[in-house]
Amino acid sequence: MNLKDLYQEIILDHGKNPRNLGKFENFNKDAKGHNPLCGDKVHIFLKLDENKKVVDISFEGEGCAISMASASIMTDLMKGKSETEAKEIISKFLDMIKEKDDINSDLLKSDEKIKLMSLGGVKNYPMRVKCATLSWHALSTALDDFQKEVTTE
Ligand code: ZN
Repeated sequence: MNLKDLYQEIILDHGKNPRNLGKFENFNKDAKGHNPLCGDKVHIFLKLDENKKVVDISFEGEGCAISMASASIMTDLMKGKSETEAKEIISKFLDMIKEKDDINSDLLKSDEKIKLMSLGGVKNYPMRVKCATLSWHALSTALDDFQKEVTTE
């Protein structure tokens, strides 16, 4: 299987069977994201403990396979990360999806990098970049508690 097929398989798998779907009890941060161009909507829920570690994270939403796969992959790998680590991963992911060929972070295992790289195929399609980054912007907003809803517009 070549890399392109592998990437496609990861997106299809996560898009069809999103992990961490559904609100959970006792979340203490949340934020919504809306991508009107495609119709994608996400609502991210997370629980930070007293050390600002992500002890649980999930999402609700509907949208295209890219947006759902991205939210699924993101929530999977954010569990157990500190707030600082989560922010670094968000920033590395956004760099990769917009312009970089690779994602370099000591915080990510190689299989996690491969899952993130699978979303990198949208790089040349600005409309799709918005689908892939929606949940990441929402998570960033939830962590900052700055505003409660982001839109890609
Ligand atoms: Zn979309």
